[in-house]
Amino acid sequence: MDAIPRITGSLVQSFTICPRQVWLMSRQICPDEDNVYLELGRLIGCRAYGRERKEVHIGHLRLDLVRRGGKECVVGEVKKSSRAREAARMQLAFYLYELREMGIEAEGELLFPEERRRERLVLDASLAREVKELKEQIEALIRRENPPPAARGPFCGKCAYAELCWA
Ligand code: SF4
Repeated sequence: MDAIPRITGSLVQSFTICPRQVWLMSRQICPDEDNVYLELGRLIGCRAYGRERKEVHIGHLRLDLVRRGGKECVVGEVKKSSRAREAARMQLAFYLYELREMGIEAEGELLFPEERRRERLVLDASLAREVKELKEQIEALIRRENPPPAARGPFCGKCAYAELCWA
């Protein structure tokens, strides 16, 4: 691969779930647009947050929600369930990291509206280091000529690439 695509929040989230998924996404092998789970995720986010929800696009960042919280800006990441909580946490940490690189200090909030849960996320020095290392690992993965082999995992059932991997 000549040029490494820009690392996005989706790649960071997927890396925690399945490296093969990241490689496929980086080659823009598009998942099934009709995938019901993707759509469900969109709908739940809209319904639960109604007027409060704002899709904020800043360069390569797609933030579900941004609001003022005290002195700081709060970036919210809305998820259908906390099943992939760690992946969602790293996605949000990535957004905070990238915003900091742009000179914007923000706090994060993970939102699981179906479970009526929210979790605060602060980008401290150790989390920032984790994000930096994660970005380096993703870049190394994307540079590979071939994707890692498919390996069955707990997220395959709901993955948009399932047909590609297991047909
Ligand atoms: S179906 Fe499973 S192995 Fe294939 S990309 Fe999705 S999560 Fe990874």
